[in-house]
Amino acid sequence: MNKERLLKIKEGKKDASKTYVIYWMQQSQRVHYNHALDHAIRMANHFDLPLVCFFGIDDKYPEANERSYQFMLEGLKEVSELLKKLGINFILTFGKPHQSLIPFLNDAQALVMDRGYLRHQRLWRKELYHEVKSNDSLIIDMVDADLIVPVHVASQKVEYGAYTIRPKIKKLYESFRDFRKLAVLNNKSDLKLDSDDDLDDIDQLIKKMNIDHTVKKSIYYKGGYKEASRRFSEFILEKSDLYPESNDPSLDATSHMSIYLHFGQISSLELLERLYLALEQGQIKGESFDQYVEQLLIRRELAFNYVFYQEEYDQFEHMTEDWAYQTMEAHVNDKKTYIYDLSNYEEYNTHDPYFNTAMKEMVVTGYMHNYMRMYWAKKIIEWSPSFKKAYETILYLNNKYFIDGRDPNSYTGVAWCFGKHDRAWTEREIFGKLRYMNDKGLERKFNIEKYVEKIASI
Ligand SMILES: Cc1cc2nc3c(=O)[nH]c(=O)nc-3n(C[C@H](O)[C@H](O)[C@H](O)COP(=O)(O)OP(=O)(O)OC[C@H]3O[C@@H](n4cnc5c(N)ncnc54)[C@H](O)[C@@H]3O)c2cc1C
Repeated sequence: MNKERLLKIKEGKKDASKTYVIYWMQQSQRVHYNHALDHAIRMANHFDLPLVCFFGIDDKYPEANERSYQFMLEGLKEVSELLKKLGINFILTFGKPHQSLIPFLNDAQALVMDRGYLRHQRLWRKELYHEVKSNDSLIIDMVDADLIVPVHVASQKVEYGAYTIRPKIKKLYESFRDFRKLAVLNNKSDLKLDSDDDLDDIDQLIKKMNIDHTVKKSIYYKGGYKEASRRFSEFILEKSDLYPESNDPSLDATSHMSIYLHFGQISSLELLERLYLALEQGQIKGESFDQYVEQLLIRRELAFNYVFYQEEYDQFEHMTEDWAYQTMEAHVNDKKTYIYDLSNYEEYNTHDPYFNTAMKEMVVTGYMHNYMRMYWAKKIIEWSPSFKKAYETILYLNNKYFIDGRDPNSYTGVAWCFGKHDRAWTEREIFGKLRYMNDKGLERKFNIEKYVEKIASI
């Protein structure tokens, strides 16, 4: 592993009374290509101790609902089964993850945690550190396992756009193609710690949880590494030729990896390595390879740069550029032909059939094509009483229905609709200099009726 993935949070003295090393899995919910798990196994081997993997489920998580939890638990069930085969004890608890973890640290020589970049994920780790910093023996290491180039290495400031971060990432990423083989745990003692659940019956568990039960599980997407891996192979072999035209929502030419990447069920580095292999074996064309890498490596990691360095990335007043605020201010009182509210959106009840179709795809399946996400959000800007109201509505719907919602890409994608990482366009009513999109564009560029028919049939 490239050493720059590792942040040494706290030193500790060896203590013979400690009985295990613990890995706090939270962001990288997988076994494959997991640098944090690999580091935890090596630490356990170093101290000749068994390894425990801890996961905390918080049913008070913002916008927690059946859809996202079902998907996450399907992935975790697979993880727990695989860890068992590797001799690693998996424990699942309910409550704030960092708080539930604290009692388990009394007997731990070392804690390894993966890294999350959203504010609440950073706060959990910070609060945990403050709670246990006086524990003399506990070592704490944090490992980035979710990015190809960790955010703080790629850049030390908020980047202006893809064109400013691209050269930095391109210079560095080869040295972060750094995962070889998961280390083998030496000490496979039959240590058993109390887990709140064993994930045998996910449906039953979901029923008991205090989450939003109105957003039902998606029957279109199943969680877990195996399904992510199967879909990615299918993408390479059957869809990647069409990837250069994947902006067209009527073509099913994208990989759908965002929902798996969001929960860390598959690693972006593994996807990159599989793309290289496919290129070598002639399974993917150079143009598709380049365009996919641009999304996975540059656009995705730009989103992480944004949430890490842009304070208050989820607040309307702080999420975009000065020129964008100025133009919104100048157009705040422009007359609007249509004004809709949340219920119109959630019932697919606007005058625009393409918007209604996109909304249906989102509500029913938990996913929406990238081009339609842009169009969908731009329409909400056009039909809202204010820019701020539009921002809040878009983010609310995004994080409520998308399986990949509440991701760095969510905040960045929504901010992009308000000018972030974009440029000023010719001034027009309502939008000012923000980029405008309309139905005529969809009709001119794509076979949009085919998209409407596809979604109508679900
Ligand atoms: C208004 C709006 C809201 C969005 N909300 C989300 C969200 O909640 N969660 C989310 O993950 N993405 C979001 N996006 C970004 C993008 O739409 C999705 O990542 C993409 O559609 C995922 O589909 P895919 O995996 O099939 O993409 P593919 O085309 O197969 O791309 C592969 C991977 O590259 C990355 N990628 C692709 N497009 C983008 C992009 N535009 N920006 C950054 N990374 C990208 C993703 O990690 C994706 O999984 C949003 C975009 C907009 C404009």
